[in-house]
Order: sequence, then C-alpha cells, then structure tokens
Amino acid sequence: VGPTIVAGEILVEIMATERGFGFLEPQTLTGPFPSGAPAIFIDQVGRLGGGAGIIGCVGRDDFGTLNLERLKRDGVDVAAVDISDRFPTGCAFVRYRPDGGRDFVYNIAESAAGQIHLTTAARVLADKAGHLHIMGSTLSIAGLKEIVAYAGKAVRARGGSTSFDPNMRKELIAGADGALFSALVDDADLLLPSGDELLAAAGIDDEQQAVTALFARGVGEIVLKRGADGSSWFGADGARIDCAGFLVEEVDPTGAGDCFGATYLTCRRQGMEPGKALLYANAAGARNVTRRGPMEGVAGFDVLDQFIAGTARRT
Ligand code: ATP
Repeated sequence: VGPTIVAGEILVEIMATERGFGFLEPQTLTGPFPSGAPAIFIDQVGRLGGGAGIIGCVGRDDFGTLNLERLKRDGVDVAAVDISDRFPTGCAFVRYRPDGGRDFVYNIAESAAGQIHLTTAARVLADKAGHLHIMGSTLSIAGLKEIVAYAGKAVRARGGSTSFDPNMRKELIAGADGALFSALVDDADLLLPSGDELLAAAGIDDEQQAVTALFARGVGEIVLKRGADGSSWFGADGARIDCAGFLVEEVDPTGAGDCFGATYLTCRRQGMEPGKALLYANAAGARNVTRRGPMEGVAGFDVLDQFIAGTARRT
C-alpha cells in the first residue's frame, strides 16, 4: 500500500522537427514539452489511477509551471518538488539521426534538476510510499544517491517494493556509479531493461544466460523492452511470456519505455497477471510513439482498451 514514487529530473524537451539534422546548423525546433524520464513515468502512473508522487526540483519559471500543471492534472503528488529561485528548469534538446537513433543535449547539472536533494518533503513522501521506481538516467544527479538510499529503505521497511529501469543515456552515464548501479539491479523486484541494457546489467552477451544470471543475483521479475517488436516477461521460475508489438506509425520514440514501464508496474500493483499487464504496457508504449512529445501519449485504461481493440499487432 502507498503510492508509487520516483525521484529525478523534471525537464522540458525541445526537439528537431525533421530527422537527419544535427545541432550545428539552424533548423526548426518544436516545444517546450513536459519531460524528464521520471516525470514521464510517474505521469503515466497517475493517468492510470495508481497513487503517484515525485521528488524533484524545477525553476520558478514557465518551464517549471508547464511541468507542475501537467503532473498535477494527471494526479501526481508534487508536494516534494522543490521550486528553485536560483536555477532554471532543466532542458533536453533532441535530434533524430537518419538511422532512427537519437542524440540528446542535456542541461541538468546546472539546472534546478541538478539541485535535487533529500528535503523534509521528500522524506514525508518516501515515508508513505508503497513502491520506489529508480531510473539509471537520474543517477548522474549528485543528490539522488541519498534519496534512493533513504526512499529504498523507507519503502522496504513498510513492506513495499522497488523497480529499476537502467535507462542508460550515453550522455548521462559518464558520472554514474557502477557499484550503485549493480546494487540497484540486484535489489530490484522488477527490472525493466531494453536489450542492450539487459546484457550490460548481467555482463553477459546472451539474452537467456543474462536473464538466468540476473535471477541468480536476486532480481524478482524481468520485463524486456524490444522497441517495435514488443516485449518479453521472464519469471524467476523460468517462465516466459512474449508480447508482439502493435503496428503503429512512429512519430517520436522518446518516452515509450517510461510509459511502458509505468503501465506494467501499475497493472501489477493493481493485481493483474504478468501477461495482461504486458499487453497494457505494450499498448501504452506503442501509443506513446504515435504522439510528438515524450509525455503527450500518456493514457488511462479507457484509452488503452480502445487502442488494444483497434490496433493490429506484428505476427
Ligand atoms: P525510451 O528510453 O526512449 O523511453 P526504451 O528503449 O526504454 O525507450 P522501447 O523498447 O523503445 O523502450 O519502448 C518500450 C516499449 O514501447 C516496447 O517494448 C514496445 O512495447 C513499445 N514500442 C516502442 N516503440 C514502438 C514502435 N515503434 N512500435 C510499436 N511499439 C513500440
């Protein structure tokens, strides 16, 4: 019992409108969109009616207001979001490579998000939480280690659970702590990697062997994200469920993994079986890529039911 909580960057995202351009020449950008992986994740939890709260920091500016209004509208408790008078809300600039990959330019460390620390309001939220979701991207923020340690302990003391999405953005992992990363993998009741992250987390180059090794290290369940191909669930007893991806036109891939993870977790916290939770998660991820803006595709169960009923899947 108790809300699902996250801690980390709340940003605005400003993105290239066309694929293939770098940031070395003028081009058309669009935004600002509310963003930040933890913010996208918790907004989707809120949309699904799961109790939701976030520990973060925004500037006293329009970008901060844009995010706070969105989170509040979708049912997220923002009492533990600090408002900085000294630092502006952080931002991420995104451009899309011709091969479909993305590159980010982040302003986090010198923004309000870089100032996140364990405040009294953060402790209050952690002390009533039932689940802590941790994301690799946030670990580059100095104050996050203390928050994750405190909140992890508080949630477990109340009989709650944790999940970990390695979410390894190459632009952010340089400052990350490898030992902490490994410990978070080992402690995760639910691990939510993409394919490369699964292999990196295990240090093994074969998918099934990596899964087996991670269970031996104490992971509770693993849900593997496979982009357009869908996802797979692995149970500690060797069980496996594959879920084919929905056939959609991808407009903007950013945020799919966060919507997916938030949906899987919330369905499971509401008592759903893994297979049904995986179907909803696949739908949430697929629907999100059809909208421009990382948080513009978040959806409640009514919308997801309609999407599932009306969308074909890969065979
Ligand atoms: P990100 O870090 O950008 O949020 P990710 O790498 O963590 O993404 P993905 O595998 O890209 O996660 O996406 C998560 C899930 O969303 C997939 O497992 C799939 O169910 C769904 N999804 C993503 N992209 C597509 C797509 N193009 N078509 C259909 N479904 C998709």
